[in-house]
Amino acid sequence: MAYEDSLTTYNKSGGDFFSEEIGVFPEEEMADLLARSLNGWVQRNGFWYFYVNNRRQTGWLLRGTSNWYFLHTTTGRMQTGWLLRGTSNWYFLNPPRGGSGHHSNRPEGVMLTEWVQTGGRWYFLNPISGQHAHRTGVPGGAMRTGRVVTTGFFDRSGERTSEGEVHDFNSNGAWQRQVNNDARHMTLWWPRGGQPTTINFQPFNFNSSWQPGMNSGINNWNNSTANVRFIHHNNSNNTVNALSRTWNSYGRIYMTRSTSNIAEATTTRYQIELNSRTINSLINNNASWTRHNVISSVMAHELGHVVGLRDNPTGGTSSLMNGNRNRNTITRPTTFDIQSVNMLY
Ligand SMILES: [Zn+2]
Repeated sequence: MAYEDSLTTYNKSGGDFFSEEIGVFPEEEMADLLARSLNGWVQRNGFWYFYVNNRRQTGWLLRGTSNWYFLHTTTGRMQTGWLLRGTSNWYFLNPPRGGSGHHSNRPEGVMLTEWVQTGGRWYFLNPISGQHAHRTGVPGGAMRTGRVVTTGFFDRSGERTSEGEVHDFNSNGAWQRQVNNDARHMTLWWPRGGQPTTINFQPFNFNSSWQPGMNSGINNWNNSTANVRFIHHNNSNNTVNALSRTWNSYGRIYMTRSTSNIAEATTTRYQIELNSRTINSLINNNASWTRHNVISSVMAHELGHVVGLRDNPTGGTSSLMNGNRNRNTITRPTTFDIQSVNMLY
């Protein structure tokens, strides 16, 4: 842990200067000092301070073998939330219970490492030296940017990952996507916004053998616990079509990016085409399947791409995004799909 001397704390999410009351609290402190010898944590007016033989401590404080705290360099108050040290090292100190990003199994104020979710975004804080995924040259606890391999760490849904995960973070440290082979996500997705994020489409009207299944593909997302909703809007640029195509897949999606820089890109427009030729042939070849189910499944799959899911070729996971799924039974987002989407929104 590097000790750095600049005195600046910011509320990172808001970007506001967090104006600290500079100075001591002579009356309260004197009362404490007269009453007893101060050692260890002392709470005063809702703030925590740390004393060694009556001396209020400042800066980084190590407790036990790995619990780092930061005490304001002037006031000595224990800090929580985002903390900037030096010019570029952001740390995240466990917020109070109920605060955004609070880790319930870690003490308040302690420097967090690995994954944190705060303000609706995921961040990755450099593990301490000697641990997996530690990047040398970056202090333990400092926010990572760029590409991170998180092999062996608890992932964001609380599961231990047995395989390497490779994730990209943007220059502000916000998680963008998982990029390795088992990735759940594509390089594109809608900008997050609102809760749930709403994505519109131009109303469409097909005959009774197509429209109900297409509606159902939409409703299966809207009725799920995924934090996205599809709504129709007359002026939408986003379109859905069903028509006979010569290509072999059941559906296709065309997406427009906000920028050619993939690391920062989001999807700004989509056009979905369901291929009536291949879908009809699939239905004809599976006598017990219903047209409604197959169309729902293909429609819901394409909408999965809209919200940022990639094709999931692994056979083991039940997923709407699995190209080998049973299109008569998997017609709505699965637990895995919903979890993948809620990582983004
Ligand atoms: Zn696909």
